[in-house]
Amino acid sequence: MTESKTALITGVGGQDGSYLAELLLSKGYDVYGLIRRSSQPRLDNIYHLLDRIHLLYGDLTDSPSLFTAIRDIQPDEVYNLAAMSFVGSSWTHPVSTVDINTCGVIRLLEAVRHEKKDCRVYHASTSEMYGNQGGVLNEDSPFAPRSPYGISKVAAHHVISNYRDSYHMYCCAGIAFNHESPRRGIEFVTRKITDGVARIRAGKQDTIKLGNIAARRDWGFAGNYVYAMWLMLQQDQPRDYVIATGETHSVYNFYSLACKYAGISPTDHLVIASKEVRPADIDVLCGDSSRIRDELGWKPVVGFGQLVGMMVHADMERVC
Ligand code: NAP
Repeated sequence: MTESKTALITGVGGQDGSYLAELLLSKGYDVYGLIRRSSQPRLDNIYHLLDRIHLLYGDLTDSPSLFTAIRDIQPDEVYNLAAMSFVGSSWTHPVSTVDINTCGVIRLLEAVRHEKKDCRVYHASTSEMYGNQGGVLNEDSPFAPRSPYGISKVAAHHVISNYRDSYHMYCCAGIAFNHESPRRGIEFVTRKITDGVARIRAGKQDTIKLGNIAARRDWGFAGNYVYAMWLMLQQDQPRDYVIATGETHSVYNFYSLACKYAGISPTDHLVIASKEVRPADIDVLCGDSSRIRDELGWKPVVGFGQLVGMMVHADMERVC
């Protein structure tokens, strides 16, 4: 189906932003991507798209840059994927985490409200908002965040519904459970594992240091989750949805399967490092995505084993 819409993606250089840009281009969108100024911009995920998307500088901490972007582009859809997205760093950077992840959403929504009020807005909420309550979590489950990251995202989630209610804007949030890919940032545990096993296999590293290997997460494939984001902006009414597989696996499961795919022993290279353990962790996160499956027809398409295999394979190709 060909669309002739204009979309702005914040965080376009991140994991999800790059997959979403590909999806929107395939649907005929004119795609703009916001990146923040850096002495060495991180463009690895989008190098292959640079001649097809328009990049502009902007920052969620800087209102004028957001107002200018929305005024100049006049987007039909905005996907707010930019964030301080690494839970572990949110304890060392709590103030900037809230500034980017909460105040940044207010700044963006104010820019939309004043410059293109009928623009539809998707916002990236997270399973980290649920904290450690366990069980299978859906849109009605209470929030009990355990990290500055989770707190910042709960506040932003309420900001989204507040703009929807107060100004009748089309704003919605996808409560995404963990999703991974070969484009995942290297500090995240899944990529740390797949990069580590690839390096060990290549003789470039001896050990992998992990913290809480018993933690269980609901892991899906990022390329599939961006389709859910797009679907959410194509509906008559904005609504929030959980995006999840409904399956959980432990960090150790992920690690041992990655070792198997890399052809190395799981027992010889693992170091449990207390420094890697978070001040407050979440034992298990498992999502119930019935609402988005039933109402929008979305479903997870990549299984756990396939996901781990895809990531190990990509890192082995890169490292060797
Ligand atoms: P990611 O790879 O870390 O990408 C985040 C992007 O945001 C990066 O391109 C980063 O740019 C940009 N950014 C950070 N601060 C910014 C600022 N002040 N202004 C403008 N851009 C800024 O994250 P992701 O995995 O794609 O996740 C996308 C969104 O989904 C995030 O909001 C994340 O919190 C949320 N989420 C992710 C998951 C998951 O499992 N992946 C689960 C639930 C929710 P730099 O390169 O300059 O740092």
